Amino acid sequence: MCSVIGLYNVPEAAKYAYFGLFSLQHRGQEAAGIASSDKERIHITKGRGLVTQVFDEAKLSKLVGSSAVGHTRYSTAGEDSVLDAQPIFARYDLGQIAVVHNGNLTNAKEVRKRLIKEGAIFQTFMDTENLIHLIARSQKEHLYDRIIEALGQIEGAYSLIILSRKKMFAVRDPHGFRPLSLGRLGDGWVVASETCAFDLIGAEFVRDIKPGEMVVFDESSELKSIQIFEPTPHKCIFEYIYFARPDSNIFGKSVYELRKAMGRELAKEYPVEADMVVPVPDSGVAAAIGYAKESGIPFELGIIRNHYVGRTFIEPTQAIRDLKVKMKLNPIKNVIKGKRLVVIDDSIVRGTTSKKIVNILKEFGAKEVHMRISAPPTTGPCYYGVDTPTKEELISSRYSVEEIREYIGADTLAYLSIDGLLRSVGNDLSYCMACFDGNYPVPLKS
Ligand code: AMP
Repeated sequence: MCSVIGLYNVPEAAKYAYFGLFSLQHRGQEAAGIASSDKERIHITKGRGLVTQVFDEAKLSKLVGSSAVGHTRYSTAGEDSVLDAQPIFARYDLGQIAVVHNGNLTNAKEVRKRLIKEGAIFQTFMDTENLIHLIARSQKEHLYDRIIEALGQIEGAYSLIILSRKKMFAVRDPHGFRPLSLGRLGDGWVVASETCAFDLIGAEFVRDIKPGEMVVFDESSELKSIQIFEPTPHKCIFEYIYFARPDSNIFGKSVYELRKAMGRELAKEYPVEADMVVPVPDSGVAAAIGYAKESGIPFELGIIRNHYVGRTFIEPTQAIRDLKVKMKLNPIKNVIKGKRLVVIDDSIVRGTTSKKIVNILKEFGAKEVHMRISAPPTTGPCYYGVDTPTKEELISSRYSVEEIREYIGADTLAYLSIDGLLRSVGNDLSYCMACFDGNYPVPLKS
């Protein structure tokens, strides 16, 4: 996962991008960057780490101009090096360009091989760099046409913002896998992965960029919109389950409300007699509220999360790993002692977190732990921009629910069904659920 933000015709655009990236930090903590344009030149700063680690006042003050693009990175393609931080910047025959991308290109290897054979020299390991090469090599006269020609050669998931010295372009792939919203800020425009960024910078939500649409921002104050590809929507349902912030509206719906709806459906499908509903913070909170409301079982914060645990640099031996979960999540002993708990989380990936949580809760005196997951079992990896491990590492691809229950040590375990998930999102069938049902709308090409 990653996040993107773009501002056009906004004085001190880079400062707004910087604040916007704070709101989008949850979508990627490995690297951050901003490129701005003063119409003559593109200026760029990027680096490894959190937004606070990459930028300071001096660096920000050099990013002058009234347009800017920003990015936070969670590596799904490429390597975790500073070279792979975004924006990607290039000089080419039409001038200068900076690109930010959320998604994953499924034919990246194929295109990269072809480009290298034709003489291209790659600077990064990122799939996004393909796009820059394709734009630079196009023989079309205008950037606008070059972008369209380049996009015709790439497949997969992309919510992209492209900055040139005088213009900005925002595009979503025809499936619309990743979100991208458009907002108004004063006389200017803002585009961002999630609407929570608009709230922070005082922008007003206008609409989503549509699947297959490109919006062009230029010096005429009118927006230009072109539907470059026929839309075939497969919006990522996992955005609702885990990724997006609950205070965002994604794909036209409130993430918080949908998470609560998932909790309600889960309570209908898998009720249990218990004394309290306890979320795994923060990912399980909204669904736990829904579960508690539907079941009538009281909601309690039985586990507290420490928000200040970053990465630890100690060898990850098993003992240290155990310590890490305890550093991050700690039960409130007197709340859970002797109680029958329904514990809600949004997903089980490898099973590590659930196993540790059940273990700590039992160690602290919980009488029963009934684990409820507000999504179906994750059985397949994502090729469209979510960092999931290989199929073999996904516990649900290899083991039955009963085997997983035994492994994590819960008294009972149940997952929301695919039908239950669909009910929660209003039976809208335009979502990609490949990680749950194995129906991949775009094949991964090697
Ligand atoms: P695991 O311990 O491997 O089973 O991971 C489960 C935990 O990771 C849950 O608490 C989820 O909220 C969280 N999670 C689910 N998907 C992802 C993801 N793609 N990246 C990071 N965390 C995730």
